[in-house]
Amino acid sequence: MSERVIPLFDQRLAAFKADIPAQKIAANGLLADTLGRPLRDLRISVTDRCNFRCAYCMPKEVFDKDYAYLPQNALLSFEEIALAARLFVAHGVRKLRLTGGEPLLRKNIEVLINMLAVIETRDGEPLDITLTTNGSLLHKKAQLLKDAGLKRLTVSLDGLDDAVFKKMNDVGYPVADVLAGIEAAQAVGFQSIKVNMVVQRGTNDAQILPMARHFKGTGVTLRFIEYMDVGATNGWRMDEVLPSREVMQLIHAELPLIQLDTSAPGETAERWGYAGADGKHDKAQGEIGLISSVTQAFCGDCNRARLSTDGKLYLCLFATQGHDLRSLIRGGASDDDILSAIGHIWQKRDDRYSQLRSEMPADTSTGARKVEMSYIGG
Ligand code: SAM
Ligand code: SF4
Ligand code: SF4
Repeated sequence: MSERVIPLFDQRLAAFKADIPAQKIAANGLLADTLGRPLRDLRISVTDRCNFRCAYCMPKEVFDKDYAYLPQNALLSFEEIALAARLFVAHGVRKLRLTGGEPLLRKNIEVLINMLAVIETRDGEPLDITLTTNGSLLHKKAQLLKDAGLKRLTVSLDGLDDAVFKKMNDVGYPVADVLAGIEAAQAVGFQSIKVNMVVQRGTNDAQILPMARHFKGTGVTLRFIEYMDVGATNGWRMDEVLPSREVMQLIHAELPLIQLDTSAPGETAERWGYAGADGKHDKAQGEIGLISSVTQAFCGDCNRARLSTDGKLYLCLFATQGHDLRSLIRGGASDDDILSAIGHIWQKRDDRYSQLRSEMPADTSTGARKVEMSYIGG
């Protein structure tokens, strides 16, 4: 049993003021940080609450009945989220991911999707909007989400064995209900559905092959995520990380795989397709994704920003502090001023935590300073 590190103070209370620079920063899509990385992807946490208690994310010892979630008035409203999204898109963002917490717990989330779906990229293309969910409310909401304009979905599922999955979500939620949610999403016509499986050595590694067999040929892309040292409460240990390479080798031994090109710069997943009898990728059998956040840092082209539930801009999943955009939005700053503030923050960005992780002393990776993933969005 790993020892949990419980933070001594609430990291959410700390924030940098988002300054409006004296010199305006135009939104021309050319924004780059100190490492030359553009801003292309915005992840928005729409709630810090969740009905699951995955130990790697919201362990129930910490997120118990006394845990102080953000009060309703701290949350960005849909109008505020849509405004922020529009400004980030003006700076070059092309992809939005709604996440949390559990995003489907946010009341009328489909109304927000409706508002976001009308935003176009700088090139006049439709925005790529996706949502990551634990699937528990998907069977109820799939049609509403589709009708609101959502095109893509990611569903998290850590195994097919009920006992393993119930233990991992720690609220006894059954596998069958998540599978029913995925089926509902397929039935209403979602073309692109991904399933995320966080692999924790000794907990659900025996589920890798059953999951691969189950989703092969279904049109659903299964992605394996290395267990990460996010937040300060999950008691992360390196020996619980199963490197993606081992996941690939395990699957390849039974279901031959061949490596495919990554879909776009800044994409987190390495793609491997199932090979047909001719040794080439058999598209009908689909592919898997490997997200090696621990063993192969992909900070070099990380173009992702995160907007927390209460409107703070985080420049890295492992950041310790965000930049308070909500004060600007609520303080009546003009769009130009907020654009300049975002530009200024991004231009100073030098985050590359995963790259630096390997050089850190062993105990800092479980340090109590990082914000929780449920708050800044996965
Ligand atoms: N509740 C939704 C869900 O579970 O899909 C959305 C939010 S959740 C924070 C987003 C993703 O982060 C999920 O796929 C989850 O499995 C992943 N995640 C959470 N904690 C993680 C950790 N410590 N390491 C790797 N992935 C993690
Ligand atoms: Fe909830 Fe998702 Fe975190 Fe699990 S991973 S506790 S479902 S927010
Ligand atoms: Fe991006 Fe931070 Fe992850 Fe590196 S560690 S890929 S900078 S979010």
